[in-house]
Amino acid sequence: MARSKFTIRTRAALAMAVGCLAAASCGTATSQSSPAQPTSSPLPTSAAPEPTATTTPTTAPEPGTATPTPTPAGPPEFAAKISPVTRQLLKYSWRPGCPVPLSGLRLITMTYWGFDDKPHTGELVVNKSAVDDVVSIFRRLYDWRWPINKMEVVDVYKGDDFDSIDANNTSAFNCRPATGSSSWSKHAYGLAIDINPRENPYVSSNGSVAHSNARKFAKRPVRAPGVINPGDRVVKAFGAKGWEWGGYWSGIKDYQHFSKGGG
Ligand SMILES: [Zn+2]
Repeated sequence: MARSKFTIRTRAALAMAVGCLAAASCGTATSQSSPAQPTSSPLPTSAAPEPTATTTPTTAPEPGTATPTPTPAGPPEFAAKISPVTRQLLKYSWRPGCPVPLSGLRLITMTYWGFDDKPHTGELVVNKSAVDDVVSIFRRLYDWRWPINKMEVVDVYKGDDFDSIDANNTSAFNCRPATGSSSWSKHAYGLAIDINPRENPYVSSNGSVAHSNARKFAKRPVRAPGVINPGDRVVKAFGAKGWEWGGYWSGIKDYQHFSKGGG
């Protein structure tokens, strides 16, 4: 969505610029040299390469879904915007009876680094008490260019955790019970985040992985982009803020999972 908006805007701006240029050169030609009048008439024809110019943004979609504009010097700085959440935004993942009211949650819209080696803008819903931790940790990940596949609110998947994981989506809040339990998951409080679930699967105590696309990542350590390994800088960055890693659990391993205070 953001991508098409960007392209349209860029195209419009470019078309305008090209149009203005053409108009300006027409104007100059007519006012400066009146005998050159006939010469000025082919000019509109030369304004025809306009479509050629419009193709430029299509071949250079580097900004992609990123809201910030990359500077010539390099990618944009990390940016995060905090907003209240609405019932509409969380129409699948929140309902009355959830342990945290909507007023206790926040939407973080922030930059992340993609597997395509480009900046993107993602959305993560967390407990309002976790905002500072999360922004500071994800700023570090971005500065390291540590790649994240996708970051969408779980409602994009109608609140379905399995579908969100299958899409290798990084997400946090989801008002649901803990896997294999009747009590609330830390995700229901917005105090847990699952990162790159394909590269960091949930592995049952018998070693099985529910998502076939993740099976080759069932063991640790794995040297691959977006993988979280024991004691690595991602685990340390979360640990420094009091977030524990599910990869340290005994029996079940939840390599994608970080939660404030554990659990
Ligand atoms: Zn989790």
